Amino acid sequence: MNTGLTGGIASGKSTVSKLLADRGAIIVDADQIAREVVLPGTPLLSEVAQTFGEEILLADGSLNRKKLGSIVFSDEAKRKKLESMLHPAIRKLMRERMEDAEAAQPDKLVVVDIPLLYESDLAHLFEEVIVVYVPVEIQIERLMSRDGLSQEQALQRIETQMPIELKKQKADVVIDNSGSLEQTARQIEEYMQGKGLR
Ligand code: ADP
Repeated sequence: MNTGLTGGIASGKSTVSKLLADRGAIIVDADQIAREVVLPGTPLLSEVAQTFGEEILLADGSLNRKKLGSIVFSDEAKRKKLESMLHPAIRKLMRERMEDAEAAQPDKLVVVDIPLLYESDLAHLFEEVIVVYVPVEIQIERLMSRDGLSQEQALQRIETQMPIELKKQKADVVIDNSGSLEQTARQIEEYMQGKGLR
């Protein structure tokens, strides 16, 4: 079976996907796939450079993600343009990886970790969706401390996403990650048990 895993930036998706992997789930990481589709030499990377300027490339021809991020985070039209270029390729590869994993190991849970699952309207691809939830105050704190951002920068990034409360409402399963890691681990344990996966 498959499940989509999402949440807000810094709500704990990576943390939860590690916990799921520790308990035997197979993880497909959409961020990793998003990097693969713009590796040096790909037609998609050339297209992105043509649209946003050669300055988004590093000297070795690879993508300067920080530079591109700084261009699109402050400009919604540019962000949308970038997403419309990248999403179809990401979606296709993601689907292939998920279906291959399910076919190869039908008794395992295949978890696809997608930060922007709801924003990109991808819920229909999955049997269910897990949202990793923390209240926005904790989200800000953890984002500031993980990425060394100011409060203003953290808020700016959070505000480009669908509000976490809304994601929580849409979820089939909510993992509350506002407590300790042990508390989160217990919720994952129960979830896997409930699926008969452990
Ligand atoms: P995401 O993948 O959703 O962006 P992360 O899993 O990277 O989020 O978590 C964001 C930050 O919060 C990381 O620095 C992580 O170590 C920390 N973190 C995650 N869960 C907890 C928790 N339950 N208690 C304390 N810190 C946490």
